Amino acid sequence: MLQSKLFTKTRREAPQDEVSKNAELLIRAGFIHKDMAGVYSYLPLGLRVIEKIKTIIREEMNALGGEEVSLAALQNKDLWEKTGRWDDTVVDNWFKTKFKSDSETALAITHEEPITNLMRDHVRSFRDLPAYVYQFQTKFRNEVRAKSGIMRGREFLMKDLYSFSRSVEEHDAFYEKSKKAYLNIFKRVGLSDKTFITFATGGIFSKYSHEFQTVCDAGEDIIYISKEKGIAINKEILDDENAAKDALTEIGVTRESLVEAKAVEVGNIFALGTKFSEPLGLTFTDEAGDAKPVVMGCYGIGIPRLMGTIVEVMADEKGLVWPKEVTPFDVHVIILSQKDPQVCSYAEDLVSSLERSGNSVLVDDRDLRPGEKFADSDLIGIPKRIIISEKTLQSGQIEVKDRATGEVSFMNEGQL
Ligand code: ATP
Ligand code: MG
Repeated sequence: MLQSKLFTKTRREAPQDEVSKNAELLIRAGFIHKDMAGVYSYLPLGLRVIEKIKTIIREEMNALGGEEVSLAALQNKDLWEKTGRWDDTVVDNWFKTKFKSDSETALAITHEEPITNLMRDHVRSFRDLPAYVYQFQTKFRNEVRAKSGIMRGREFLMKDLYSFSRSVEEHDAFYEKSKKAYLNIFKRVGLSDKTFITFATGGIFSKYSHEFQTVCDAGEDIIYISKEKGIAINKEILDDENAAKDALTEIGVTRESLVEAKAVEVGNIFALGTKFSEPLGLTFTDEAGDAKPVVMGCYGIGIPRLMGTIVEVMADEKGLVWPKEVTPFDVHVIILSQKDPQVCSYAEDLVSSLERSGNSVLVDDRDLRPGEKFADSDLIGIPKRIIISEKTLQSGQIEVKDRATGEVSFMNEGQL
């Protein structure tokens, strides 16, 4: 892709109404547009990152046996009344609205109710289970605090998977498998050394839920990490004396051995038991012919939150720094003498050869001073930068710079 054709522009100044580092840098680099507090639109570069993250998550969900769907955003009030979650005193972040007929609807905050109802049409007997269903879908939440940029949107893309099992044992086995898949995801996006499985409050059907918390100064949570076990406990558990005692015993650590850190909840997994299947009537007939409620679990990851966390953790004073797996382009080729036909044809050949070997390339062919091009390249944060100038032609040596480390090396075309 040619940068001269990219409609988005970079900007030097920070947007005035933005307090978070992630949104500030992403807006300056032309990845996102801020529509209003907590509401962002994704531009070509930003969308490429979102798609890369989705691909990694989709691969891991498919490997778990997940089947992808896409549920509606508009919600059927009747379903939510059955579980008691329509009530504004129970759930306080709905965006509700009305049909022309005056009856109420709302934009989905999550999808347990509609997915449970939908599965009633497809699950009859024990032979139809287990089932694992997931989607990438927009959630709408009237968040009070929307000061964390894309990490806390009022409208945001979530990957949510729901598991449907015949028994608690079958559920538990999948729940453990899902932890591994989640750790794989956070490893693949470059956050493995900072992301911890974290014991969190669980609700009614299990003692704990598990959050995936990435250590980060911009985080809104406080966790206590056991470096020895590679596990953490959310402060909310330690604040309750009895819960704290139980969790410490279960993990096998002392309170004193834990290290406090600020962290972002990039994902979480929940055992739901029959909390939704019972009120909504999702049952199956077991081998003895008896009707039983399906045992459920839910597994979420906020896609923009994950993208924002990567920005917060990796960025430096010059701008964004993308890990290889989620970068919008693999290589940023910067042409310095863009008016020299020989340099241009050399660059064209090089780009074709990079693309043939599987790299996506952004080519800065704009008529700008080198300093401006380098500053933009630092801001955009593509991992590998290649500079092509008359010098390159003379020496036959290509200058390659690593965005993360700043290391410069000279290579022949064959070594790229
Ligand atoms: P939080 O405690 O941060 O408010 P939550 O516990 O309500 O989040 P869930 O409902 O479990 O979150 O949603 C699953 C995942 O979706 C979270 O782990 C997080 O990664 C992401 N998420 C939740 N709220 C937002 C938001 N407002 N913007 C972006 N991502 C979000
Ligand atoms: Mg939470």
